[in-house]
Amino acid sequence: MKTEKSQKIYELACQVMPGGVNSPVRAFKSVGGNPRIIKRGEGAYLYDVDGNRYLDFCNSWGPLILGHCDPDVAEAVKKQIDLGLTYGASTEAEYKLANFIINKVDAVESIRFVSSGTEAVMSAIRLARGYTGRDLILKFDGCYHGHSDHLLVKAGSGLATFGQPSSAGVPEAITSHTAVLPLNDEEALNDFFNKNGDKLAAVIIEGVPANNGLLIQSHEFMRMLRALTQKHGALLIMDEVITGFRLGMGGASAYYAVPPDLVTYGKIIGGGMPVGAFGGSTEIMNKLSPLGPVYQAGTLSGNPVAMSAGLATLEKLADGKIYAELEEKNRRFVSKLISKINGSVINVPGIASIFWIVFQKDLPRSAGNIDPDGIAHFNRMHQSVLNDGIYLPPSGYEVCFLSAAHTDEMLDDAADILAKNIKQEAHRWE
Ligand SMILES: *Cc1c(COP(=O)(O)O)cnc(C)c1O
Repeated sequence: MKTEKSQKIYELACQVMPGGVNSPVRAFKSVGGNPRIIKRGEGAYLYDVDGNRYLDFCNSWGPLILGHCDPDVAEAVKKQIDLGLTYGASTEAEYKLANFIINKVDAVESIRFVSSGTEAVMSAIRLARGYTGRDLILKFDGCYHGHSDHLLVKAGSGLATFGQPSSAGVPEAITSHTAVLPLNDEEALNDFFNKNGDKLAAVIIEGVPANNGLLIQSHEFMRMLRALTQKHGALLIMDEVITGFRLGMGGASAYYAVPPDLVTYGKIIGGGMPVGAFGGSTEIMNKLSPLGPVYQAGTLSGNPVAMSAGLATLEKLADGKIYAELEEKNRRFVSKLISKINGSVINVPGIASIFWIVFQKDLPRSAGNIDPDGIAHFNRMHQSVLNDGIYLPPSGYEVCFLSAAHTDEMLDDAADILAKNIKQEAHRWE
């Protein structure tokens, strides 16, 4: 595969942007090799500046559930562009997308749009604190909620429940208000609530943790979380930036039948444009400025181009057909892949249109149970898979996404190529 143009542009980019990128994982640091510079996307494929084609399992990290350049999304965007890009004033498009989401998600009666998932989560936490009058929040090790200061937290050492900054530049004074617990540990959760429940503003959890592997939680754990937060007067925030409109119209809260107090969105609801949102009951949401005391604002919030792309995307998903097809395609693909690798050294957990390839015999349910050696296997395999024309996200901790543009035929070929590479890599292991 020729990659000279990518190489050259990447080198130039490194001179003007830290690591040559605007978001760190894109730099391919974990997997080695240089990132491919992308020129265009079409359907299930990405094309780089050297003319190479890749079957895309990253899909811009989740937003593109319809694939690249869906004609209806493109048309909605073009139509809005002719009318102007932004006004800093209210539009009907905002109302339409808000109303659409509220009609589909029981827990959301009122919603506010922002420009990224990070911003949605940051604002939801402020709202939870403002509503409850409490400062403490609880998150889980292995869940990612964007890069706001109070969520860049790792578990403290030993018995310390309160978090340590996981990034330079984050004051301990801020992370000391964030507690961190392991996922899937009912005992730790109970203990924590017994000691701290009445000081807790909110618990935040990913709908299905999918930013540090795919760590599908049990219904029991999720129900317990709901019961404990209710009992102690803390809010439950479900971060559905990935799972919202990925796990069906109702997202993870419908999947678990666990209604959260606040939901955060991003990715799919923007149809590929920069968007986030958070919503909940009218009672809680009315604490937001201009009605209430919790301040929150944004120059480009509810941007009409983004609202149009989001609405066009969600409308295509509304009858549930695409979800059913995606789930079936994913099931078929995963079982095909696994059947090709006898004496399995990998696990491929999947849910809806998400799957994760992990070189590990026992399926992990918490971050602490992910084997770093298994991740190293994925990372070593990444480049040869890429050179075979398959674009996996460039880190073993990242999950893969299918889009409606992926066909069974494409997926069968991909299963062959992946199986070949996985076997080669597994050989080195044995
Ligand atoms: C991607 C993501 C975020 C952050 O969204 P950005 O738009 O990247 O700021 C937050 N939470 C979850 C669960 C995510 O997957």
